[in-house]
Parts: sequence; C-alpha cells; structure tokens
Amino acid sequence: MPRPISATISLPSLSHNLRTVAQQLDRAGVAAGRPRPNIWAVIKADAYGHGINNAVRAFGQAEGLAMLDLDEAVRCREAGWTGPILLLEGFFEPADIAILDRYRLTTTLHCQEQLDMLRSARVADPIDAFVKLDTGMSRLGFGAADYRAAYEQAQAAQARGVLNALGKMTHLARADDDPLATQHQLQVFNQVTQGLPGKVSLCNSAATLTPGLWASIPDSQEQWVRPGICLYGSSPFAGLSASELGLRPAMTLSARLISVRSIPAGAAVGYGHLFTAAQPMRIGVVACGYADGYPRHAATGTPIAVGGVRTRVLGRVSMDMLVADLTPVPQAQVGTPVVLWGEGGPSVDEVALAAGTIGYELLCAVAARVPKIVI
Ligand SMILES: *Cc1c(COP(=O)(O)O)cnc(C)c1O
Repeated sequence: MPRPISATISLPSLSHNLRTVAQQLDRAGVAAGRPRPNIWAVIKADAYGHGINNAVRAFGQAEGLAMLDLDEAVRCREAGWTGPILLLEGFFEPADIAILDRYRLTTTLHCQEQLDMLRSARVADPIDAFVKLDTGMSRLGFGAADYRAAYEQAQAAQARGVLNALGKMTHLARADDDPLATQHQLQVFNQVTQGLPGKVSLCNSAATLTPGLWASIPDSQEQWVRPGICLYGSSPFAGLSASELGLRPAMTLSARLISVRSIPAGAAVGYGHLFTAAQPMRIGVVACGYADGYPRHAATGTPIAVGGVRTRVLGRVSMDMLVADLTPVPQAQVGTPVVLWGEGGPSVDEVALAAGTIGYELLCAVAARVPKIVI
C-alpha cells in the first residue's frame, strides 16, 4: 500500500473560483458602466501546484492563460488550449522567439535585451506583446524615463512584421495592503502610458478583487486582469479569508494517522523536544512531513483536522511525519483521516500564517512524491 497521503485537486472548485472572480468583475463593471476586463488565469508554477492540465480543464471560461515557463505554455497548447497565452517574463534567448511564433504565445517585453533580440528576429506570424512599465515594484519592466522609447522600439518591430498587437502592463507591489502606494503606481502608469495605444494589464488577485481598482484606469482600452492565487482558493489579503471572498479550496492535502500513543506528563515530543506534555495525553503520528511540502516551520498550535475535528500540530515537523494532539478526538485511531489543509480542514492560509509564510508558498511546494487525485 502506498503511504497514506494525497493532494486532492477539485476541478469544480477551480471553476467556481474563476466564476466568482468573473462575477465580481461583472458587478464592478456594471457599477462603472463599462464591460468587465478579460481574465488571464495565472497558472505559473504548475498552476500553483495544482497541475497545468487540471488548470487547462478547469479554466476553460477564462479569456486567456498566463504563466512564465515556455514548456508549460507548450503543454497548454498540447492540452488543447487555443486561446491567448501570456508569458509573464517573456522570452530569455533568441531561440525562444521561434517557440513564441510556433505556439502563438503573447510575450511580455520588459528589458532592452529583449528588444535587441527582436531586432534580428524573423517570424512566420507577428507576435502579440505587452510592454511592461516598472511603476514602483523595482522588479521587471522599463523605468518611467525609458518606457516610451521602448514602446517606440516595439512599434518599430511591429512595422517590421515581427510584433502584432501591443499592450501596456505593470505590476502592483502592495495591492493587498496599501491603497496609497497602489494609487501612486496607477498614477505613474497613467502618466507614462498616456496616449499610447494598446490593451492594458495591471491587476494581480489583490488588485482584481479590490472593488473599483481596475475601473480607475481610463476606459478607452481593453483591460486584462491577471488573478492567480484567488483562483486556487487562497486569499491575497491578510485580513480577509478565502471563504469570506466566496472562494473554495481547490487543493486538499490529506493523510492518515499511522500511529497513536498515550504519553505521560513530562514526555517531550519530536526533534528538539519543542513540546512537552503538561499532563497525560494522546497523540497521533500523521504520514506527512516537510519532504511532502508541509512547512517545517509550522509550530506547535498550527491547526490540523483529525477525523473531522480541528486540533493542533505538536512539536517540530519531521521529514516524513508530524504529530497531532488527539485530546479533542478521543475516537482517533490508526487510519483516521487527517486534513492538513483544504476541504474539511484549516485553510492553507491559516497553516501558512502559523508557519510564517503565505498560502502561495505552501501550494507550490507540495512535493512530487505526493500523489494528486483529481476530482
Ligand atoms: C504571479 C503573478 C500574478 C498573479 O499574482 P497573484 O497574486 O497570484 O494573483 C500576476 N502578474 C504577474 C506578473 C505575476 O508574476
């Protein structure tokens, strides 16, 4: 028998989350008197650990898919996706341009080196591109001073038949926690791109789910939002849970108890003896550890569900096992199901908070050795 651990991926929940985001955008569009933006469903990092093929199946209603690995983009085409695909980092070397051409991929253009590579490129069909502006993230994109010259170079590539439709793009650093910083980035975007033709793309999940944000951009051009994490049922906001946002967990990481024991007062648990029992108690060993992608920094008290009852992790997480407090689950025995996060257990965001990280990291880090079950 295989080790009793698995990650269940729910296609209906993925589709539900996309629908929930689209409906919220519809309402914001009605309020603003304009059509809702198109959605690039972001499926980078193997669809945040949920599997590219699953994402392609579940996100059929999205207008486009966005990711950054060329191989993943090709896999989307091979899985039958015929709509637009955006490469969030664009291409990395001249040979990649032939792949963009062959698989009809939309590229981001964020640096002069990419524009230089386009200068000598030949394509069968011109390629769609978004020219990225750095409005205050200091990651990818042309600076405000260089942006318009970069855009003109892209227009020259368009005139040469290398590029097709051009768009304008930026990325927000604090859409989840600082409206003023975001407002400033949007102002920079509007100022620098003013009068340049093309579609607009700015919003990650937090910005997409902030009412009124996308509609604050002048409405002359088609807009594309880029939600990622919310589609997987994790919240982009620290103070607002995924369920409050109407989102459903798309991944449930579950395992079973493989050992149950009673320990006396004073017994210490696990490596480093980080937890010591104050009174006699029952504990259970769960077939999940950091080699499965469960965070090693999840401290005593991290929520976990055993037999449908919420309890806590005790002591340090080992490579292949962790220990749960069975005090509130006296009926638990070897074989009792355990939910680490997801449907019937704590949210991935609660576990992430207890481990000092974010849901994104946990979803992406589920190990290859954990079998995925698709429902
Ligand atoms: C990852 C990413 C997104 C999606 O971000 P979420 O916070 O997961 O919604 C959008 N745009 C870019 C450029 C990204 O890298």
